[in-house]
Amino acid sequence: MSLKLFDLSGRIALVTGSSQGIGYAMAAGMARAGAHVVLNGRDTAKLAKAAVDLRQEGLKISESAFDVTDSTAIEAAVSEIEASIGPIDVLINNAGKQHRGPAEEFEDEHWRDLFRTNVESTFFAARSVGRRMIARKRGKIINIGSVQSELGRPTIVPYTATKGAVKMMTKGLAAEWAKHNIQVNAIAPGYFVTELNKALVENAEFSDWLCKRTPAGRWGDVEELVGAAIFLASNASNFINGHILMVDGGLTASV
Ligand code: NDP
Repeated sequence: MSLKLFDLSGRIALVTGSSQGIGYAMAAGMARAGAHVVLNGRDTAKLAKAAVDLRQEGLKISESAFDVTDSTAIEAAVSEIEASIGPIDVLINNAGKQHRGPAEEFEDEHWRDLFRTNVESTFFAARSVGRRMIARKRGKIINIGSVQSELGRPTIVPYTATKGAVKMMTKGLAAEWAKHNIQVNAIAPGYFVTELNKALVENAEFSDWLCKRTPAGRWGDVEELVGAAIFLASNASNFINGHILMVDGGLTASV
């Protein structure tokens, strides 16, 4: 009975940046919980492969290729998804990227690229889907922050600034839209093994440091983000607004 709270049957979810990594794992997990999930990314071949793999499991999966930095493309895609599949109940703003480098040498274009991909995209997609959710008086928006929403670290100053912005955008949207029965929350992952972190995964010194620094003593597995995504996408979180759920093996709980 209480498990029904987490049931996503009949829900339509759009997960940005879900052709691989964290987005793919959350999309697959939500589809396995009953949702019809729309995958997104820019590389159409990669997107199609991800969709085929999940459809072979018998899951309800669609694809929508667009660039999350382009607000016009987002609006067109959201409109098309709603016309062809149905109203989007859940939006996960997951697409994001990383550029590493010393702050004193960081290039303008990399700074702008990070803000466009990690911050502007989150606002543009929330605005486009949120407008429709307001009219329907219900919806779930989940933004993907990071432990860098809370903690600084050398060589990733601009990324840290973007994830701090995602945290505060989550609180701002929650404050504005809770009255419309829209719950806006964030998941803040610690360090997970994905393409985005390839350089770190392959760096033995960093990996040793991370495992010592993290109370759980290891990297995260992307499957360990699925429970948080289902929780924040489901009726189990109907009175949770503006919460930042750390999924980090205790990293931000300790010094
Ligand atoms: P990956 O690099 O593995 O995957 C990124 C995904 O986003 C791909 O599907 C990519 O597809 C898509 N994407 C990138 N740019 C765009 C764009 N402009 N428009 C549409 N889709 C895009 O990243 P992760 O899975 O590691 O990260 C996902 C999110 O989680 C990011 O927001 C990241 O900051 C955050 N995060 C990750 C952590 C980790 O440990 N990995 C820790 C904390 C937060 P394509 O290139 O085809 O567009």
